[in-house]
Amino acid sequence: DPLIIAAIALAFTHFSIPITYYWYLRTRWLNSLWNIVVDPSHTPMISVIVPTYNEAGFIEGKLDNIYDQEYPRDRIEVVVVDSASTDGTPERVLEWSNRHPDIALKLVREPVRRGKAHALNEALKHVSGEIVIITDADSRLLGRDSLKKVAAYLSDPSVGAVSCVKIPEASGPEGIEASYRGFYNVLRVAESNLHSTPVFHGELAAFRRNLLEEVGGFPTDIGSDDSHTATLIALKGYRAIIARDLVCEEAIPRKGYHMWRVRRAQHLVQHFWKILRARHKVPKRFKTVLYTETYLHLFNPWILLAAAILLAASAATGSLLAILLLALGLALLLFKPYRAWIATQLYLIAAAVRNLWTRE
Ligand code: GDP
Ligand code: MN
Repeated sequence: DPLIIAAIALAFTHFSIPITYYWYLRTRWLNSLWNIVVDPSHTPMISVIVPTYNEAGFIEGKLDNIYDQEYPRDRIEVVVVDSASTDGTPERVLEWSNRHPDIALKLVREPVRRGKAHALNEALKHVSGEIVIITDADSRLLGRDSLKKVAAYLSDPSVGAVSCVKIPEASGPEGIEASYRGFYNVLRVAESNLHSTPVFHGELAAFRRNLLEEVGGFPTDIGSDDSHTATLIALKGYRAIIARDLVCEEAIPRKGYHMWRVRRAQHLVQHFWKILRARHKVPKRFKTVLYTETYLHLFNPWILLAAAILLAASAATGSLLAILLLALGLALLLFKPYRAWIATQLYLIAAAVRNLWTRE
């Protein structure tokens, strides 16, 4: 049956490419030496930007988390950029700042909400640090030496941007999120060892300020502002890395988990499309990573869908083999990593479709 042969070929393609890529990165790059020279005594001025929109429940804990960093306090400047929060977030920021006069804090207020990237660009006008760190209000840096490490990695002139690996907050909807993170953190770190990773995390995204300016700040037309900016920096030949010893905790929403995953996926799809369409010249060492990740985010999910449709069509005509293969595909859902993978494919497909009518 040609339908079944085609379906098997598609399914094979869908699974073999990411497995080969993962295996290659894991064996060849995950534990290979960083080609990076770190100077732990490097303590440049760091501007930490926290974008907020209705974060009253998180903002004080967030500022405490930054305050607890073991980094010379007179080398840190915190900038909270708030976009017309209605829950008293800016008032809490000012109160917190009054209680902590020994750390410089600036509150930038936007009169109307025009998105995170817009707010970040506004904040950039007010910062003076050599390094700019963006960190989401609902996340936490897990090491007190995070800023120190960021500064150390960026002491190497070949490094342009640094981000963290992330672990889901302990109380979040366990399982699926955890396996997703384990697999993806391996990719992120190994890609970084090879050259750069095209996916950054809003929990901690650090940039050289002069490079941020060179790439024009954060893109306001797509959602993955941190990943996109990091990738533009990598395309300039600098390294955009995720360091395995920089760990952040990400807040998992209790409500609307699936929609949150779809929105995340939408942002990544927008990011990779924008990179693809701009037809950049890609530095040699970054090619494998960028091309494979673009393929995995934009095209690979659809190959799985096509395989499933072919099998279903064949099953509908009574093919026993097709029914068996479909059943096998479903039975494998009992295994967590497979389930997490399939879920991610579905989020990417839903994301591409939803991008057709809303980009938020
Ligand atoms: P998610 O984790 O990707 O779902 O995104 P969040 O909703 O947690 O937003 C990430 C960070 O950006 C949080 O600190 C938000 O408060 C902040 N944020 C989101 N939208 C805006 C905005 O329009 N303006 C500002 N200033 N911050 C925003
Ligand atoms: Mn968040």
